[in-house]
Amino acid sequence: MSIDTKSINPQMLILARQTRGLKQHELADLLDVSQGLISKAEKGLSKLNEGIVRKLSVLLNYPVSFFYDQSALYPFGFYLYRKYSSMPKGQLEAIVANLKINLMHIHKFFTMLEFDKEQILHLNVEENTPEECAYLIREKYKLPPGPVKSVTSFIERFGIIVFPVNTRNRMFAGLTVPLEDENYVVFVNKNMPHDRLRFTLAHELGHIILHNNKKVFSDRYDDEANLFASAFLMPEYDIEEDLKDLDIDKLALLKLYWNVSMASLLVRSRQLGFITESKYVSLYKYMSKLGYRSEEPVDCVVPEENPEFLEDIIATFQNDLSYDITNFCNLLCCTENYFRNTYLNLSFNMKILAENRNYFSHSNSKVNSSAVKNVLEN
Ligand SMILES: [Zn+2]
Repeated sequence: MSIDTKSINPQMLILARQTRGLKQHELADLLDVSQGLISKAEKGLSKLNEGIVRKLSVLLNYPVSFFYDQSALYPFGFYLYRKYSSMPKGQLEAIVANLKINLMHIHKFFTMLEFDKEQILHLNVEENTPEECAYLIREKYKLPPGPVKSVTSFIERFGIIVFPVNTRNRMFAGLTVPLEDENYVVFVNKNMPHDRLRFTLAHELGHIILHNNKKVFSDRYDDEANLFASAFLMPEYDIEEDLKDLDIDKLALLKLYWNVSMASLLVRSRQLGFITESKYVSLYKYMSKLGYRSEEPVDCVVPEENPEFLEDIIATFQNDLSYDITNFCNLLCCTENYFRNTYLNLSFNMKILAENRNYFSHSNSKVNSSAVKNVLEN
């Protein structure tokens, strides 16, 4: 059957429009058709002629084949949502539409490949606190004491895909979507500072371990995932001594050792009762005044945070199935540019802030702790 005699998949029309941030009437204006036609086409009640589909393809920058892709869409796991209530609706819609397209791609990859993975342990947060769960996980999978070297590789050993999302929208941090057969995709903003990236990954891991079988979303899940992440990245028994007598310089140095933000270290110190409430508030206010809430002066440099599983999948298609770019584009119904930007450029964006160097030359700190010594010696 030629493409011209088939009907488009209405879902694909909706996704294409949403990824470009357009409303139905805006798309109708661009195509010079009525809003009613677009509305009906998106419900599958009206057929678009091939001329309109070609125009759509050019305007929205998707190959014609995209609109005819009949793959089923994954249901989205809204209960594992990081709350994005403050994000404007159109922006969130565009991000989610893009993620749905990525999920369709991953589904296509998974149906063609088999891979080994370790079974992930799910814990009951009614039986153990989120912090205890984090310690159980560190113990069960034999993580060495101290900072977690790579949260990404830890997550990937369970066959979970860490998917870097190239968005400049700073409000989007991360989102986990469960697939069938205990598979998950963890989407994370690839342009985040590394400290936030690591915390977000640990937070999403918390959701997978603690909230796997929950069917409805509860406000407490995000707090539980945050507590899990804090304890997973900064276990009390290892960080205890470091978190006492905090000041701003010590926080900056500890950040380089623990690879978490100064803010997370400060919060952790309060969680563990190592800092008085007034000291916490004054340090927090001081950091806000210096603008650290939007950007801290030092960023972690963690080359280990590299998503490799998805990279392996692409490489397997190339090596074992002799896929070239055209084959990938045909399989995924995407443009070459899109494929290159999305799947051949998977690293997180490393941003080594110039302030990293300057900060310490201006600092008069005389801190002395095991963690700090470690940083200086490495
Ligand atoms: Zn969350």
